[in-house]
Amino acid sequence: MRTWEVRAPGPMATQPMVLVDRAVPEPAADELLVRVLACGVCRTDLHVAEGDLPVRRPGVVPGHEVVGRVEALGAAVTAHEVGDRVGVAWLRRTCGVCRYCRRGAENLCPDSRYTGWTDDGGYAEYATVPADFAYALPLGYSDESLAPLLCAGIIGYRALERASLPPGGRLGIYGFGGSAHLAAQVALARGATVHVLTRSEAARRLALELGAASAGPADGRPPEPLDAAILFAPVGTLVPVGLEALDRGGVLAIAGIHLSDVPVLSYERHLFYEREVRSVTSNTREDGRAFLAFAAEHPLRVHTTPYALDAADRALADLAADRVNGAAVLVV
Ligand SMILES: [Zn+2]
Ligand SMILES: [Zn+2]
Repeated sequence: MRTWEVRAPGPMATQPMVLVDRAVPEPAADELLVRVLACGVCRTDLHVAEGDLPVRRPGVVPGHEVVGRVEALGAAVTAHEVGDRVGVAWLRRTCGVCRYCRRGAENLCPDSRYTGWTDDGGYAEYATVPADFAYALPLGYSDESLAPLLCAGIIGYRALERASLPPGGRLGIYGFGGSAHLAAQVALARGATVHVLTRSEAARRLALELGAASAGPADGRPPEPLDAAILFAPVGTLVPVGLEALDRGGVLAIAGIHLSDVPVLSYERHLFYEREVRSVTSNTREDGRAFLAFAAEHPLRVHTTPYALDAADRALADLAADRVNGAAVLVV
């Protein structure tokens, strides 16, 4: 099969990835072999290729938003059939026995494994996935539009849950990329009033088109106090800005893996009246299933730009340079 591998992590200009021929992987007893139909290109893939994330598997195949067709079953798999369309996401295995796994917080499992980082992912013609971690996918979406739901969508959904938005509440969204534009649609479908705060004019237009009540600059003030807010922009200086925009009892959830330093907070100005800051770490399978079930009931608009598998390096370079409109997706 044709597959990309990360040969020498470094800036995209140094060509850290190469396209090679490899044998089709063998699924382990509890795994599925899938033929990749589409694979989303996520910023985390860029962190893997450029070496911002430490190397966990030399020569790893990146990609963790995989839409595939089941091609073969491991010997112990009973719950899937050849020909099923399934999704493969970032969280790939958890230990199942640690204190976090046992209390339903498998996103915090210290022994978890990840697609496209600790194990090979979907920038390839075939990939494997533990059967218990493969998602059933909603009908009514193309392969290309499903791919970004598997990371951007699921993480945005978890961030929205972590923000504890009350029914019919007022939500602020700071930064409006792939994950945010999906989370906004979930909140709007649930009856929220959404205010978007982002520096990009095009993103502000998209926000209003999707039904946001207002869209203004990232460091601006929303037109009314917020019951909850989600910070998608990786910008720590927006933490006090978001906290000041909260109403009493409001929650600010920080969605990203990376955030620049948070400035000193004032207890009175930013936290008193039971305002809270929460981080968001990966997701559980339950989050993934809940989000995909939601997507099945409420058609989401997913903005994508297709690339051929051969052009994965170009897709990542475009992402690094902010040249991608919507989510980049490899269509295999
Ligand atoms: Zn565990
Ligand atoms: Zn991702």
